[in-house]
Formats: sequence, C-alpha cells, structure tokens
Amino acid sequence: MDAGCSGADGRKSISAAEARRIILGRVQPLAGWERVAIRAALGRILAEDVVAPCNVPAHDNSAMDGYAVRADDLQADGDVTLQVVGTALAGRGFSGLVGPGQAVRIMTGGVMPAGADTIVVQEVARRDGTAIVVPPGIRRGQNVRRAGEDLAVGAVALPRGKLVGPAELGLVASLGLAEVSVHRRLRVAFFSTGDELASIGRPLAPGEVYDSNRYTLYGALAKLGCDIVDMGVVPDQPETLETAFRNAAACADVVLTTGGVSVGEADFIRALMQRLGEVSFWKIDIKPGRPMAFGRIGETWMFGLPGNPVAVLVTYYQFVVDALLKIAGLDPLPERPLTRVICSEAIRKLANRREFLRGRLFEEAGEWKVRPAGKQGSGILRSMSEANCFIVLDENQGDVAAGDAVHVQLFDGLV
Ligand code: AMP
Ligand code: MG
Repeated sequence: MDAGCSGADGRKSISAAEARRIILGRVQPLAGWERVAIRAALGRILAEDVVAPCNVPAHDNSAMDGYAVRADDLQADGDVTLQVVGTALAGRGFSGLVGPGQAVRIMTGGVMPAGADTIVVQEVARRDGTAIVVPPGIRRGQNVRRAGEDLAVGAVALPRGKLVGPAELGLVASLGLAEVSVHRRLRVAFFSTGDELASIGRPLAPGEVYDSNRYTLYGALAKLGCDIVDMGVVPDQPETLETAFRNAAACADVVLTTGGVSVGEADFIRALMQRLGEVSFWKIDIKPGRPMAFGRIGETWMFGLPGNPVAVLVTYYQFVVDALLKIAGLDPLPERPLTRVICSEAIRKLANRREFLRGRLFEEAGEWKVRPAGKQGSGILRSMSEANCFIVLDENQGDVAAGDAVHVQLFDGLV
C-alpha cells in the first residue's frame, strides 16, 4: 500500500516523522519529584536547576607546577632573578606575602599566595640555589586558575531536565552538594498478548512460542531506569484484555503491549484502546512495525506495539523511548544523528515507507562501511543482537546498490 493510503477503517497510515511529531507533541513531563542523595541521582533527571552555592574553584590557584611570581617584577627583554621564599602545595598554602623580587614554589592546585599574580612553569624557570632565573616572555596571569572560573557562585551549574551521568555527579560533588532534586521515576506497565505464547520454564506445546517480548521490554525499560510493572501474558480474549488494560492504566504512567494490534481476527488491542480511551493513530508507513497504536486511557499513555520481536525493538527505539524520556522530564531530548556510510551489499527496498534494517558497521581499509546484519525477517531477533546500528532507508529511497551511501543510526546512545 502507498504512504498515506486509507486503512480498512478509513483512517490513514502516517509517516514515521509524523508519528514522532504526534507522539512527542502530545506527551508532557510528569510533575512529581523527590530529593535523593548524590549517588542515587545517577541515571535520574534533574527536576530543578542545580545552582552553585560557592565559586568553583573556590580560590585562585596554580594550573601548573612552578613558581608564583609578581608580573611587575618580570622584564620584557631580559632575565630576572627572584628569591624563592616558600612553598605552596595543594591544600597547604603559603601564608606570607610575596614581596618585590620574590617567588614562591607552587604545585598544581596550590592557592595563589598573596602578592603573586602569575605562574612561571618549572620547565621555564632556571633554579639557581635559593633563587630562580625567569626568562622574558611570560604573560601576566599566565597559568592561574581564577576563583569561580568553572562556576561563579549563583550560576546554574546544571539545568533542570538534564540526565545525571558521571560528569554531572562529579560536578554536583564539586559544589559540595550532598543531594539533588530529580523527577520521580516513570512507572511503565507492560504485557504480551497472544494465545500462542508460552512462559519460559516449561516445554512448548505444538504451535506455541516462548514469550520473548516481555524480556526485551524489561531490558529496555530497566536500562532507562523506569519502575517496571510486568503484567505477564494475556490471551487474545477481549474480556481478559480489557481487564488487563484497566489494571495497567490504573497503576502506570505508560502502558506498553505487544501483539494483537494489526487487523487479524484475534487482534483486539486497537479496538479496546479506542473503546476505553482514544487512539491517535495505529498504522505507520514503516518496516518492520507497520501496525503500532498510540493513544491513551485516562491519564495513561498507551503504546500498542506489534508482536514480532524485531518490530517491538524498532518501534520502541523509534517511537517509544523518546516519549518515555520526555514524560520522565528529559529536556531537551537527545539528538538522534544519522550518519551516511557506504553500504557494502545491495538491499531491496520498496518506496513510500521507511525501513529500518539491522546493520553492522565495520572497518575496511580505513573506511567505515555497513552491511545488513544477518537475516532481516521481523521475527529474527538475532539480527538485532548481531547489529550495532539501524540502516535507515527513507520513504523516497528505492533499491540500494552495493557501494551506495545509506543512512545509519548507531545503537550506542539510542539508550
Ligand atoms: P501479532 O502482532 O500478535 O500478530 O504477532 C505477530 C508475530 O509475533 C506472531 O508470529 C507472534 O507469534 C509473534 N509474537 C507475538 N508476541 C510475541 C511475544 N511476546 N514473544 C515472541 N513472539 C511473539
Ligand atoms: Mg497475536
């Protein structure tokens, strides 16, 4: 079918870009927040600006090992001899005053002694007994780190909406802060649907498949730091599904389901979402993952993902993860850069839909190239495991010949 064609219910399928626009335009950050101890903030999103309560660094100090001197003593065109009158170490300063003709031995991080304004690095100063000889060409203030140079007191050290990683933890600690305010964790419930699904731990009956989607989603959501509510497998049975939906919507901010969302006889998800709430769209012109319903029941956002295991991950990464991040308070949302590289193999591609192939970037003769990672069927999860990127083929792209450039989106950073 073409892009923008009418579906069986008269509603149009939409492009991937339009689907992202709708989702990210509708969802809004949650209001709840909590104070947590600094280490517990790792992976959380700041709910308030972190404001510097002090200067960083707190004092003017030396950026190098060398000598603290007075720039007024130095000559523009000749050597100067200065008497070394003491030492300043990091954490143990020189308490006296550096007078005319004097210098103080100083180590990196040592507080600038009173009277001195410039650091001569030790490789440049020539030591001569208790004196040093300083050549010309030293700038006033050279190699001095100024108090407040990293952060002045009162400045916003980290803005609200920022994800706290290792650098942010260090920055918060450098301000002497023991706690920060973070958005509350997002509560995400999910269940798998399908009469054919068997839970792990028992042999398969004929026609059954093990439910893998709940484990994939568990992994993706756990990595994101969500509160997870695993509601198990729900059979393709309208009353049971309705109960599951109502329970999920009552306890979670977001509900993810897999399977049952296309137009097969046993596909009840979309109709149920429509009856219990509203559905913004349920078909996207992509492969894999064409049926994917987005909507809400009450205050709870609903994503009805396809059943095929690869389609679950594709739709999760392309449409769900940024929505979760926005609801969780992340601002701005991460860039999702596409890089263009040469594709080493030919790929068949239909026009009017965006395709996400599982790709493997590799280096050949100093150049990075990409090839499809294994068999591309939307049920073949191994392709996802062997891949390190998506090959993203746009709506207007036709077949790819070996040697053509294609867009790739790296898994690294995708979360
Ligand atoms: P559906 O979207 O329900 O028609 O499912 C599409 C395909 O994905 C079928 O082959 C299902 O058996 C398979 N599938 C659906 N849910 C799961 C699951 N939780 N784990 C593994 N395979 C699934
Ligand atoms: Mg099904």
